[in-house]
Amino acid sequence: MIINDKEFGEVIVRKNSLSRGIKFSVSTSGRLSMSVPSYTSSFLAKRFLNSNRQTIRDSLPIKDPNGQRARDYKKKLLMKKAREYLPYRLEYYAKLYGYTYNKCRLSHANTRWGSCSSNKTISLNIGLMNVPEKLRDYVILHELAHLNHMDHSKAFWQEVSQHDHNYKSHEKRLKLFSPGV
Ligand SMILES: [Zn+2]
Repeated sequence: MIINDKEFGEVIVRKNSLSRGIKFSVSTSGRLSMSVPSYTSSFLAKRFLNSNRQTIRDSLPIKDPNGQRARDYKKKLLMKKAREYLPYRLEYYAKLYGYTYNKCRLSHANTRWGSCSSNKTISLNIGLMNVPEKLRDYVILHELAHLNHMDHSKAFWQEVSQHDHNYKSHEKRLKLFSPGV
């Protein structure tokens, strides 16, 4: 259920049979999200929202409601661009340097550029499409090196440096960008 609120914009209401109280959080799109017990009516949800406005304002980083639709659209375009590029770039480098991974996932987490799980799934953030190619490649090479080293040990960095001699400066420059869309 979606509530259209004049202050917070589209508020996502998720009914959860396990939840006893009402919990507020921020969705990955920056919208306010409410988790409510399954019997909660929209009338009740709105009333609860009204009585908690100040707490929400003070504690949750909700993105400007006027930009919600525009951000959704931007994210969709970015996802499309990423889908047509990142999996192929990953495959290219994996072949070039002899890595085997299980699959490539695209993510839009707000905090990380990429990850590599123990079952050899590599996740790449669609926000990589917004950074210079060298930095994008660095992230890919970094995650590929994790296939052999699941930590940031000396051996790991040695492997990264074999494929990206400038990895230190790339790592530093990447900090100037944010993965959030
Ligand atoms: Zn790492």
